[in-house]
Amino acid sequence: MTKPRIAVLALGGTIAMVKGDAGGVRPGLGADDLVAAVPGIDAIADLQAETISRISSSDLTVPAVLAVARRIEALAAAGAIDGAVVTQGTDTMEESSFLLDLVLTSSIPVVVTGAMRNPLSVSHDGPGNVLAAVRVAADPTVRAHAHSIGVLVVMLDNIHAAVNVAKATSTRIDAFTSPETGPVGILVEDRVRLSSVPNRDYRTALETETDGGPDMTGDIPSVALHTLAMGESGGLLKALIANPDTLGYAGLVLGATGGGHAPEWLVEPLETLAKRVPVVMAGRMQAGYLLAKTYERAGSEIDLINRGIVSAGRLPPLKARLLLTVMLTAGLDAEAQARVWATLN
Ligand code: GLU
Repeated sequence: MTKPRIAVLALGGTIAMVKGDAGGVRPGLGADDLVAAVPGIDAIADLQAETISRISSSDLTVPAVLAVARRIEALAAAGAIDGAVVTQGTDTMEESSFLLDLVLTSSIPVVVTGAMRNPLSVSHDGPGNVLAAVRVAADPTVRAHAHSIGVLVVMLDNIHAAVNVAKATSTRIDAFTSPETGPVGILVEDRVRLSSVPNRDYRTALETETDGGPDMTGDIPSVALHTLAMGESGGLLKALIANPDTLGYAGLVLGATGGGHAPEWLVEPLETLAKRVPVVMAGRMQAGYLLAKTYERAGSEIDLINRGIVSAGRLPPLKARLLLTVMLTAGLDAEAQARVWATLN
């Protein structure tokens, strides 16, 4: 039986660290090194190792991740691969995997993985994660449902949907979780066990509003992210309003408290700003839905929505920022954006 052809695209990160000159580690390994570190992996798939970059994931950008998406699409369109594994740093993995989930239109599995412990540490988790990621990308069930499942993140034998996954702690080897839904599957005895398919209605809506998928070839606008904290004075919001160019931002995602709440003294600046650029509120708690019709005081969700603030529903701030970035890049107007946000509420 022919083995699936899986591309392993390496971006850098903890999984790719080598000994540095200052007593620590720095990115240095390429895709070939990561594949070579997994004995027997070639029995599972025909691997095409490709080093895209050797950087920490804090240095990744939207254009850089879009370039990875284009590479995957080109390989898929050429019929050269049956799936792809992207290895990168964990710091921004929940963002890059969701961005790929939003823009990829090919129907092959794409699995993102990395490591919490670098190759010079005891019990480095990179090789096991690469092996698991390749198993998932090569799995017949995953391949059969790839378009509905979307991009996956595989860490420590847990299979997470990109829309659900979060890096919940800074250093723990089990840092990755899907706090609202749990993983969509797990590997047991090296076998992929899928237990659910994620709700990706947002992706269907995005495809509908963009006639098949967002055109990301245009200029990519900057979207600000501002998390509200107790007693926030509103200085940054007022600076955005005072600047004719809103400091170069085309939109703002607000990390809102509770079910979508802001302090009463911020509702005027927020309403003013929302008349100029999209202002989207997302729950700062990383999990749970925002409310829509419970609390009505000035600054609660009913009031904010009535003042033109958009609700990201169940999407956390980091991902709401990327969805807004994609919709603005693709040129969706406010009504089209609202139809996409509605699928997350
Ligand atoms: N875990 C980091 C990453 O996501 C590596 C540390 C660093 O920023 O160098 O790449």
